[in-house]
Amino acid sequence: MSRLYDSRKRILVTGGAGFIGSHLVDRLLGEGHEVLCVDNLFTGTKRNIEHLHDNPRFEFMRHDVTFPLYVEVDEIYNLACPASPVHYQHDPVQTTKTSVHGAINVLGLAKRLGCKVLQASTSEVYGDPEVHPQVEGYWGHVNPVGPRSCYDEGKRCAETLFFDYHRQHGVEIKVARIFNTYGPRMHHADGRVVSNFLVQALRGEDITLFGDGRQTRSFCYVDDLVEGLVSLMATGPEVTGPVNLGNPHEFTMRELAERVIALTGSGAEMSERPLPLDDPRQRRPDITLARDLLDWTPRVELAEGLAETMHYMKRRLAELDEVTRT
Ligand code: NAD
Ligand code: UDP
Ligand code: UDP
Repeated sequence: MSRLYDSRKRILVTGGAGFIGSHLVDRLLGEGHEVLCVDNLFTGTKRNIEHLHDNPRFEFMRHDVTFPLYVEVDEIYNLACPASPVHYQHDPVQTTKTSVHGAINVLGLAKRLGCKVLQASTSEVYGDPEVHPQVEGYWGHVNPVGPRSCYDEGKRCAETLFFDYHRQHGVEIKVARIFNTYGPRMHHADGRVVSNFLVQALRGEDITLFGDGRQTRSFCYVDDLVEGLVSLMATGPEVTGPVNLGNPHEFTMRELAERVIALTGSGAEMSERPLPLDDPRQRRPDITLARDLLDWTPRVELAEGLAETMHYMKRRLAELDEVTRT
């Protein structure tokens, strides 16, 4: 949609009240754009966006993306979808609907408006990968009928829809395959490993290490990820992705637990729990494509990012303690 008065864009961010979405919204507002944040607040919270309440360029709409959405915007970032295994397995049918019906609706919207649309896809499309590190050309190793399938297959189907709307209807698409991202505003009870370990260590509780802790992940700090998303959106129509976005430094979950214990100075002990079904054994992005296409590379290493996240979690836990005392 071309605007009459200025070159400022009006940008839709679905899932904008979530962890990554709220940082993206901050970034886009900081660049002078108008942002429409659409979220059903399933895992996101108003707290993540409450600092934007008085910003005249910010608008919040409570809406579920599985239903059609008729708005006028110039660009769309589609982030709506629970990302933590605990949350996406809570209502798996709704998770698949969110990815699939949500994709159809934002693509229909982008088709009508003739605007760019970016999909927050995931490293989970590679499943429990047999190729390491993961390159975009790898088709993945995904169980279609397991407890993670609602998320993995939902996101895979969303990618299919993005590419079919592109080929069939000429919609300008950008598909980002996001690897494990962490940082402030992750929900303290989110269930993901970084928030779990930090909260447990800060509370002096046992650190729940699933399996033997030798499985690996590569953790990207949220500011780096947002930079990658914005850079991908800024590319010309020839760039569709999929493009991996993540930090290639790989850690075992035992190493992560050790780092969290050292950082927090906690006396917490590790306590081994059963490994969840289909938990990927290894994960690390090959980011050659992102480096070449976007000139993007993550800057924040785990020590720095974990410290920032710990400060945030400390503040959140203190606020929660205050609420229970009063
Ligand atoms: P999050 O759970 O904090 O954010 C997801 C947001 O989507 C929440 O605000 C939630 O309320 C909203 N939402 C969920 N279902 C919705 C629906 N049907 N309609 C409208 N809103 C809905 O998770 P996040 O980590 O910020 O993830 C954001 C996106 O990035 C997700 O699409 C996720 O799959 C993707 N992603 C995240 C990671 C990661 O490590 N954080 C990795 C890969 C991909
Ligand atoms: N849609 C929407 N907003 C729009 C245009 C479409 O939410 O501005 C939704 C609508 O639910 C539609 C879907 O996107 O069913 C797919 O749109 P498309 O034009 O591809 O298909 P059709 O309208 O033929 O179903
Ligand atoms: N994990 C863990 N303890 C926890 C939560 C997660 O050991 O309290 C492990 C989990 O089994 C997985 C890794 O940490 O191997 C990352 O889990 P997360 O849920 O953060 O994301 P995933 O990458 O599996 O989607």
